[in-house]
Amino acid sequence: MSQSRPSKASIPLARGLATMLALMALMASVTTYRTEAARDVGTPAATPAVQRNGDTNPDLYAALTPNSRDAIYAATAGTLSRYYVDVAVAPATADALTAFRGTIDLLFVNPTDRPLNAAVFRLYANDPRYGDGEIVMRDVEVGGVPATPVLSVADTVATVALGTALAPGETVTVTYSFDGTVANDPAGSYGMFTYSPSSGTLALAHWYPILAGIEPDQDWNVEPVSVNGDPIYSNTSLYDVTITMPAEWKIAASGVETDVSTGSTGRDETAHRFVTGPSRDFTFVADATLDRISRRVGETEVVSWYNPGDESGAGAVLAAGVATVDEYEPLLGDYPYAQLDLVEVSVGNGAAGIEFPQLVFIGGSYYAEAPVTPPDTSYLESLVVHEVLHQWFYGLVGNDQYAHGFQDEGLVNYLMTSFYRLHYGEDAFAVAYLSQNEIPYLRYLFGTGDVVTDYPTDDYGTASAYVVAAYYKGAVAFGAVREAIGDEAFFDGLHRYVAEFRFAVATPDDLRACFEAASGDDLDALWANWFDEENGTVDFTPADLDADQQRLDALLAS
Ligand SMILES: [Zn+2]
Repeated sequence: MSQSRPSKASIPLARGLATMLALMALMASVTTYRTEAARDVGTPAATPAVQRNGDTNPDLYAALTPNSRDAIYAATAGTLSRYYVDVAVAPATADALTAFRGTIDLLFVNPTDRPLNAAVFRLYANDPRYGDGEIVMRDVEVGGVPATPVLSVADTVATVALGTALAPGETVTVTYSFDGTVANDPAGSYGMFTYSPSSGTLALAHWYPILAGIEPDQDWNVEPVSVNGDPIYSNTSLYDVTITMPAEWKIAASGVETDVSTGSTGRDETAHRFVTGPSRDFTFVADATLDRISRRVGETEVVSWYNPGDESGAGAVLAAGVATVDEYEPLLGDYPYAQLDLVEVSVGNGAAGIEFPQLVFIGGSYYAEAPVTPPDTSYLESLVVHEVLHQWFYGLVGNDQYAHGFQDEGLVNYLMTSFYRLHYGEDAFAVAYLSQNEIPYLRYLFGTGDVVTDYPTDDYGTASAYVVAAYYKGAVAFGAVREAIGDEAFFDGLHRYVAEFRFAVATPDDLRACFEAASGDDLDALWANWFDEENGTVDFTPADLDADQQRLDALLAS
């Protein structure tokens, strides 16, 4: 099936809240992809051995805090797929792009409620927006039986026949090798799979053949790499990853580093081993000149990694990360990991920050921001708060970012503004909420028209329509829910949502049900109004926009 592709010039930039202002200027039209039809899974040579359970090695849980480890181990051991990854990275030179080569031993657990005859992997970096970047999957064996992956969706999907009908909860070992190339500053990857020669930073997310997202009652997600929003959609797994690089390179990664060894390759190289506990992905950043500062909050060490010269921005980033964990753990439930990395990265084409498990990218161009005085709000701070809140919504509780982008983005963008109420008071909240949620939505509503908040990410007609719907109207909608059920029920609902769906993927109905359980209210009509319909001109008038702007101006002049 042929795929139509957007031109590079029309790629929207919707990641992290900072993207919005740049996006409003773009107004690019987006080509909608068609969905892949039935896939050829190939023919296996023999039937592989299957096992009843996944990996129960407690060492895989070393990244969890002492307080959370036992309960999470008890709840998940043996139920999650597990990746052992060994990768060697050859940094870019004047003549060659960054290259890597590795092997994976995957213990795949069928997470669905029905037998599966194939495992489906994503090779995101084969999408043309990653420039010269690519990932190749080789030497695949299922339970020791060779298998040939079948590529589809512009080589971003690799389907591997299992040679058996793997029952729910059963496991099979899939081993494979892979290699890849990373482009220098590819125009379309937002800095997620990039080497930046100017900063000397290698940033790698979804850099290995990763299992595609799948939910208990649905098929594998094999959508073309999303045009709007975050492309990664994956299930929570366990990772044990060893990265070998020249010794001077420093590495910030998901999880905690459990082992460092030098010299085993006979060259001046260091092997860094990380384990993550339950995690949706494994992301790392490598840079020969990266520095770090850190601070403890509860049982978690928050680390701010930065390039020399950006000490003051790194301090602001660290303070914002610590404050976010400190303010929100009592409301949302603990951040259960021992480390949280906030990493300065040259994120690209308008993206300001990007969330990954236990690690976020913060755009290097924001580190030089001048200090502000409350109630004015720091953009760099709001960016960190937004990305750290994603550790709960996207990280712990997943959502299908292809189908319901607002579910994490709108919620996180609203909670980001609520941080200002918790930390600085009502005036700072008003500045953040008006400037980053309500005014941008109302400008679009009265300038262009309304949008449906809960709508497939790539089905919006324009990039800006997606951003307005997911980030601005989505945030205003969650504000309306909070107003309707009150503070206590709102946060009680979110606490239930995290507790019930941690390490799983939740639907919008699941989220609404948590608010309903916490409040005792039937929220059907309210939910439909804000998330499924286009009633903006009933809920607001142009006079509201004028009043919002006057109030914001007065607050900033005070
Ligand atoms: Zn976000």
